[in-house]
Amino acid sequence: MRVTIFGTGYVGLVTGTCLADVGHDVICVDIDAAKVDGLNNGIVPIYEPGLEPMVKANHAAGRLRFTTDAASAVGHGDVVFIAVGTPPDEDGSADLQYVLAVARTIGQHLERPVVVVDKSTVPVGTADKVTAAIAAELTKRGVEIAFDVASNPEFLKEGDAVNDCMRPDRIVIGASSQVAIDRLKRLYAPFNRSHERIVVMDVRSAELTKYAANAMLATKISFMNEMANIAERVGADIEMVRQGIGSDPRIGWHFIYPGAGYGGSCFPKDVQALARTAHHNGYDARLLGAVEAVNESQKGHLFDLMLQHYGGSVAGKTVAVWGLAFKPNTDDMREASSRRLLAQLWEAGATVRAYDPEASHEAQRVFGEREDLVLCDSAHAALADADALVVLTEWKQFRSPDFARIRQAVADSVIFDGRNLYHPDEVEAAGIAYYGIGRGRSV
Ligand code: NAD
Repeated sequence: MRVTIFGTGYVGLVTGTCLADVGHDVICVDIDAAKVDGLNNGIVPIYEPGLEPMVKANHAAGRLRFTTDAASAVGHGDVVFIAVGTPPDEDGSADLQYVLAVARTIGQHLERPVVVVDKSTVPVGTADKVTAAIAAELTKRGVEIAFDVASNPEFLKEGDAVNDCMRPDRIVIGASSQVAIDRLKRLYAPFNRSHERIVVMDVRSAELTKYAANAMLATKISFMNEMANIAERVGADIEMVRQGIGSDPRIGWHFIYPGAGYGGSCFPKDVQALARTAHHNGYDARLLGAVEAVNESQKGHLFDLMLQHYGGSVAGKTVAVWGLAFKPNTDDMREASSRRLLAQLWEAGATVRAYDPEASHEAQRVFGEREDLVLCDSAHAALADADALVVLTEWKQFRSPDFARIRQAVADSVIFDGRNLYHPDEVEAAGIAYYGIGRGRSV
């Protein structure tokens, strides 16, 4: 099938590559000419495990092409995906300017019937706006061309996106027309072989499904962070509590890890956008507000622990930071907890020596050159001249460090573990003070 995808970010590029990999003929279109040029020269702009070789192989095979030429791209696809960003607007609502710009572009260039698919995470009712935007352009041109707009939200996780895309838990198709449903079922048939994964529903339910999924996951995290805060105050260890509840299948093991707060390009903005949608429709989403508020304060928690350890000031301290990405296996730093902590440390007069296996380049872009930031090329290099170590991203390589070496390198012999990677007893046995999240003994 011929497929066009607008937007070659985490979602568009991964989706396009996976669709090409099963034999579809894919054109990815982006307004970022440098990105398109790079991709045409084998430069993959994001880090995602397994993605680069797949992009190169499918590009070389001619099934995956990259362009800035929207007109020819619209002419190509039997299915045209919209996979551009939906960042938060000033009031937290999803900003639809990029989605609607693509819709207008489609309307300006459409020459034959097509199924347009919203893959971006968009508020309920957006498919109607996309339909109206395309129809308005067709009217301006004085042409009548049949088209359908469907919702097909994306559930991939950064860090495991290729795997999620090749083996999705479910494929949600929200559509009112049989043409759209049939075409999308045919498109996804290669991913639906072992068992039925396709869930067909109406458009509005599909749009809400994506927000419900992210809001549920964010809620689990904030719930555990709230439990961790209680555990700290009552002298309980949240890691024991986690083990005590996770085995209950009604609760489950996933997403019950306390930490330094959730980040990334999705949970923070999607929780906010859903709350705004509720508000616009006359409902006060109190739970969502609490999920967000707990997360906001959790992002400042490690800094509070540091102040507590240092008697109120970290001025003049050099802090080694392991992990800058919002989670492991990605270079994405959007809304990462590291951004809050580093800002707090700098504000308080500390210097940061940071190491992240993949996000250094992004950190350079985000923070620019500054005297109080040294980006290091190994975990051990970050420890040199440091007074304290903070762990912010649970990269595998940080899980089993040489504590004796840390003890020697880190002048004040203290670890602030924002992901509860270590056992307090083991760290303390090495002569290092330990602060984790919700580990009762730390207060
Ligand atoms: P991104 O910012 O990585 O990429 C968006 C891309 O769209 C950019 O390359 C940008 O240049 C391009 N673009 C903007 N306007 C364009 C236009 N008019 N024509 C062509 N290209 C244009 O975004 P992302 O992380 O891939 O997210 C895209 C959407 O998918 C968002 O709605 C997001 O909420 C949703 N989503 C993201 C994830 C994730 O893990 N990142 C997961 C599920 C859903």
